[in-house]
Amino acid sequence: MAIRKIREIGDPILRKKSKEVSQVTDRIKILLDDMADTMYKADGVGLAAPQVGLLKRVIVVDIRDEDGLIKLVNPEIIEKDGEQVGVEGCLSVPDFNANVKRPEHVVVKYLDEEGEEKQIEAHGLKAVALCHEIDHLNGVLFVDKYEEEVKFD
Ligand SMILES: [Zn+2]
Repeated sequence: MAIRKIREIGDPILRKKSKEVSQVTDRIKILLDDMADTMYKADGVGLAAPQVGLLKRVIVVDIRDEDGLIKLVNPEIIEKDGEQVGVEGCLSVPDFNANVKRPEHVVVKYLDEEGEEKQIEAHGLKAVALCHEIDHLNGVLFVDKYEEEVKFD
């Protein structure tokens, strides 16, 4: 378990496309655990591997609901529908929040930390978190697609 350094906007690694993970090795499991620790320490609801400097298709999400922490390797959106607009932030984009349009519902397939193929269905905030983190794997940041900045006092 270790806290990793979070890369911030301007770092070119955040703009690169991450590579598929061919096998869920012990190193990937350690990465998943470190990413979870890093996300919790920063009080985030999700984190993608490029944010800690690794171009691998690995994300963690925890919106603090009954599902708790979800570790996803090679996540892929296989269904999406509906629409929602909500305020987002990003651990790699300090002091900036904005409204972003996302699907209301998604189904994501992925490998879990045992390498088993799984699917997760998500609505609302969990769908937002999954879409946001999967965007990171493609070098996309929410600042590329926001509708308007939201300022908090
Ligand atoms: Zn982010």
